[in-house]
Amino acid sequence: PAELQALIRTVPDFPAPGVQFRDITTLIAHGDGLKASVAHLAAHARDAGAQAIAGMEARGFIFGAAVAIELGVGFVPVRKPGKLPVETIGIDYALEYGVDRLEMDPKAVAQGQRVVLVDDLIATGGTACAAAKLLRQAGAIVDHAAFVIDLPDLGGAKRLAEIGVSVSALMD
Ligand code: 5GP
Repeated sequence: PAELQALIRTVPDFPAPGVQFRDITTLIAHGDGLKASVAHLAAHARDAGAQAIAGMEARGFIFGAAVAIELGVGFVPVRKPGKLPVETIGIDYALEYGVDRLEMDPKAVAQGQRVVLVDDLIATGGTACAAAKLLRQAGAIVDHAAFVIDLPDLGGAKRLAEIGVSVSALMD
């Protein structure tokens, strides 16, 4: 919706020259904006049959945990390397600005549990694709991912569709 879109700030040349970074901190600082964006994300996750929510560190934690509370389901953190205190499973992936790795506790999901991914933004889809694969490796069913922002020109939704994950977003 236009009112939510107006709360996103675009910062030029971050984190690298030529990148137009979509900054959601102005959205989450706005009480009604935060509440409305979480409600919309939760509706998408509910429609997708979410039995748990997984969020990618770090902005995915903000929206994902709020969505999980709204739906009354658990939250699974998909983390940057070396953060979890237990034995983890991990996946390396290429992202828009370099190479990275995601890790999770393989016991954080039940076998056959339907987990919906939540993050602030999908660009190339590399992060969400890696998270979906990792959650599947742990035994989850992952067939939907909900974002605040989709940058459709970067092909992320298409890439997720190729691995059987549909995408919803509140704006592009
Ligand atoms: P992807 O893996 O789809 O190329 O990039 C998405 C990931 O990078 C997400 O975790 C997202 O938080 C972060 N990201 C990439 N570009 C932006 C941006 O312009 N704004 C924000 N807020 N996050 C971004």
